[in-house]
Amino acid sequence: MSVDSIYFSPDVEAFRTRTRRFLRGHVTPHLQEWESQRRIPRDIWRLFAEEGLLGLHYPRAYGGRELSFFHSVAYLEELGRLGNGGFRGAMSVHSYMATTYLQMAGDHCQKLKYLKPAVQGEMIAALAITEPQAGSDVSGIRCAARTQGDRYVIRGSKAFVTNGLNADFLVAAVRTGDGEGPGGISLFVVDARAPGVTRTPVEKLGWHCSDTASVEFDDVVVEADQLLGRKNAGFLLIMKAFQLERIAAALLAIGETDCALELARTYANERRVFGSAITGHQVVRHRLAELMSHTEAARQLAYHAAWLHSQGKLAMSQCAMAKLRATELAVEAAGQCLQLFGGHGYLAEAPIAQLFRDTRLVTIAGGTSEIMREIIAESEL
Ligand SMILES: Cc1cc2nc3c(=O)[nH]c(=O)nc-3n(C[C@H](O)[C@H](O)[C@H](O)COP(=O)(O)OP(=O)(O)OC[C@H]3O[C@@H](n4cnc5c(N)ncnc54)[C@H](O)[C@@H]3O)c2cc1C
Repeated sequence: MSVDSIYFSPDVEAFRTRTRRFLRGHVTPHLQEWESQRRIPRDIWRLFAEEGLLGLHYPRAYGGRELSFFHSVAYLEELGRLGNGGFRGAMSVHSYMATTYLQMAGDHCQKLKYLKPAVQGEMIAALAITEPQAGSDVSGIRCAARTQGDRYVIRGSKAFVTNGLNADFLVAAVRTGDGEGPGGISLFVVDARAPGVTRTPVEKLGWHCSDTASVEFDDVVVEADQLLGRKNAGFLLIMKAFQLERIAAALLAIGETDCALELARTYANERRVFGSAITGHQVVRHRLAELMSHTEAARQLAYHAAWLHSQGKLAMSQCAMAKLRATELAVEAAGQCLQLFGGHGYLAEAPIAQLFRDTRLVTIAGGTSEIMREIIAESEL
């Protein structure tokens, strides 16, 4: 859909066109191969860095481009439109989730050591918050660090770490305070190859090209200068960073819905049943029209949340609404669009089948729909 928008300058639109061409040229042709290899080659991060895509919103001092936030909005939508959850997951965790903590809380040395190489595609970043026993309830994490002189020694388990195998460093949430609850959590940058770090791949329903790992920290020694921000102040940082994560999740999901609708529109216009194209049947035309209007509503909600974020506002409720609406729609749209393909949509290699598998994750990762509803209810009721 192309319409004038209050959010996008001609400059951003030109960037979007360039980025779409880049993604279609350098990513789309390889996705099937990466899906079967269960891995994205490291070179792709370097290629993205050369195109300037890994540091759109980061300062020039650390290799970034300091572009408007709506450049990131366009990039995230286009990543989603590739129609591959694993790929967009890997790239967005790197740029809009893991490295966010370095930008928010890292000092100059930490930014030079980790953020700059990540923006330049020389290092791959991962975020390790979730644990086998604690996902939605971040305050329940158990992975803990004890002090040993000036150093910390980390022990515990992390689950579902995107880029877990490819990563050079992990931003990890670790308990440093006594007792339980949100008060005693800190964030550390942990070298992924440090002694005591074990990474084990996990097999998933979808997101096949994204390397997801379980990570064990078995007395991993980290220096005091690997602590991000203040000791025991990690929980607030995580809650703040989640806002960007949710805006990104919404935009990526909208891109995926665009992709599902485009696949369905093309197929339903060509495939003939009972003497006419599938779209010749009113029930189908109306279903697609309905999904398209829901997509536009979700898109505008996500743009509004993105605009609030770009104005420096902490808009927890709007970010949660954007994530909830866009991700629930992505799951619904993938199912409804698959239906229009009949049996051809059920073939493992069909792009719509892959979207169906991949989008199932979006209402779970980055905060489940139930948690989004809780956040909205907390602030609105
Ligand atoms: C492929 C993949 C990639 C991921 N990547 C990362 C990553 O890079 N880094 C990272 O840290 N994590 C990652 N995650 C973890 C993801 O963010 C969590 O799975 C998610 O936050 C949910 O946590 P959980 O799985 O522990 O579910 P739980 O928190 O145990 O929830 C189980 C169910 O209970 C519901 N529930 C929980 N609390 C409430 C409540 N108060 N009211 C009503 N219902 C509730 C949930 O909505 C859910 O339906 C990834 C997960 C997957 C599958």
